[in-house]
Amino acid sequence: MVQIITVTVSPDDVANEKKINSLIRTELAKKNIRYKDISVIFEKKSVDARHGKVKVHLRYKVYIDEKPADEKFEPKWKTSDGKKSVIIVGSGPAGLFGALRLLEYGIKPVIIERGKETSERKKDIASISTKHIVDGNSNYCFGEGGAGTFSDGKLYTRSNKRGNIAEVLQIFNYFGADKKILTDAHPHIGTDRLPQVINSMRNKIIELGGEVHFNCCCNDFLLNEKKEVTGIKAVDFTDGSEKCFYGDAVVLATGHSATDIYKLIGKIAPDALEAKTFAAGVRVEHPREIIDGIQFHNNSEATKDLGAAEYRLVTQVDERGVYSFCMCPGGFVVPSSSEGDGIVVNGMSSAARNSKWSNSAIVVEIRPEDIPEEFKDQAQKLGCVQMAGLLFRTEIERLAKENGEGQAAPAQRLIDFLNEKKSVDFPSSSYTPGLVSSELQKWLPDHISSRLKKAFYDFNKSMNGFVCEQAVLIAPETRTSTPVRIVRNKDSGECTALKNLFPCGEGSGYSGGIVSSAMDGLNICKLVVEKILN
Ligand SMILES: Cc1cc2nc3c(=O)[nH]c(=O)nc-3n(C[C@H](O)[C@H](O)[C@H](O)COP(=O)(O)OP(=O)(O)OC[C@H]3O[C@@H](n4cnc5c(N)ncnc54)[C@H](O)[C@@H]3O)c2cc1C
Repeated sequence: MVQIITVTVSPDDVANEKKINSLIRTELAKKNIRYKDISVIFEKKSVDARHGKVKVHLRYKVYIDEKPADEKFEPKWKTSDGKKSVIIVGSGPAGLFGALRLLEYGIKPVIIERGKETSERKKDIASISTKHIVDGNSNYCFGEGGAGTFSDGKLYTRSNKRGNIAEVLQIFNYFGADKKILTDAHPHIGTDRLPQVINSMRNKIIELGGEVHFNCCCNDFLLNEKKEVTGIKAVDFTDGSEKCFYGDAVVLATGHSATDIYKLIGKIAPDALEAKTFAAGVRVEHPREIIDGIQFHNNSEATKDLGAAEYRLVTQVDERGVYSFCMCPGGFVVPSSSEGDGIVVNGMSSAARNSKWSNSAIVVEIRPEDIPEEFKDQAQKLGCVQMAGLLFRTEIERLAKENGEGQAAPAQRLIDFLNEKKSVDFPSSSYTPGLVSSELQKWLPDHISSRLKKAFYDFNKSMNGFVCEQAVLIAPETRTSTPVRIVRNKDSGECTALKNLFPCGEGSGYSGGIVSSAMDGLNICKLVVEKILN
């Protein structure tokens, strides 16, 4: 018999095996379970700092009078003979995990990626901070591993109904992520470890017969006389040549920053796109010690044992959600625009999460009906009104650039934002391109800034001290999710308006974040397999 037992201890007792064993036996006794022998396997750890005292919940699988099952991950990938092949556009989590699914059936994945491999991409990312140059094909969003490579690498998702989270975590672990991700309640890889993990995945895909083409940007779809997608056209940036790639199916895993791909679909098959709710706002950065102090109730021992504190905030203002997103404890704010004429910020952290700052996006829900008319008119002129949200997003990013300097981002102390006052100076910040003092409420759409203002007062009630002199808002955070969905058939996974095209991952509008996009890649490629092997 197997029982799941959770015990609660103080941070000091997390490694106290004797005490934990005794608590587990007490729990079994409470359930009147008799046994001769037990084997205990640790499953998950979570921290509860809500009620004044920090508690750690530890979950165990307890095997009663039986041996623990061997739950080791055994990959089922096969070497492809190349008889069947699938084009995958984009090497983010959706594309890479999708490729691994195809290899389980010996189908050859051919990955087309506009950006560079991680070692080259690192140099372009450094140039954003040092030279304020954004390479439109190699940046925080584009390149090997997608937006996930130089990200925080937080691996938790609330979409546990969409697939097998454990499978994704096991695959990450197989390719070199720490085994702690299998048991932590909030698993996290860290930006310093992610590139090696992604490189190992790519090497395995190539070793098993797959192809990966970097510097290669898809700019059109190849259609047969039945209007089915049979392949793609791409520009090879290494020599400027145009190439055609044919396959048994095309998987589109281009992420939500690929504006050109949305425009291409909007032109050739506007009905394939659907406007959807997204969110935009700012990133708030605090000195880490302030957030740790609030969350751990100034218990310095807890901070030492448990690392940088996390938080999650949510409120409702004037019928729209306002919430924290992608919180990075002990992290950095980074310039993550994929186009030189805009500014976008995001957050990341290293595995140790030990920087002096903690930051989080604070974003306001934007529904299709909230988009100002002028963007609907512009989208209409492009022949696809569903793209209005995308144009609105681009405009916020352009305004940020106008109010910043190069990639130095417009910023305001939180207190000054609430008092509608320009900030005279700033505390030290992790955002390396620099901060430019700006009255955010003057150029952020009122839909966003007025709700942010009210929300910060609410957040200060749930986290007393959140609104403080040292908190700084850095703008804008616009890429938490996509404003358009590429509609797909619920059963076949195919794009409803473009047959044999399988949109997946964050750009499709059906997933968000690393784990759910990876699961979507796995799920959609299973449907691709069913189609082409039947
Ligand atoms: C700085 C930062 C931090 C983040 N932190 C986290 C986090 O901690 N946890 C989390 O869950 N999520 C995080 N995210 C979000 C996460 O990275 C994305 O949700 C995830 O990567 C989406 O996966 P995807 O495969 O669908 O798309 P993407 O990762 O966006 O990959 C799409 C790929 O397609 C390529 N591409 C686009 N257009 C073309 C084209 N025309 N031709 C060829 N290739 C193309 C791109 O270059 C890119 O490599 C973060 C994002 C950023 C930017």
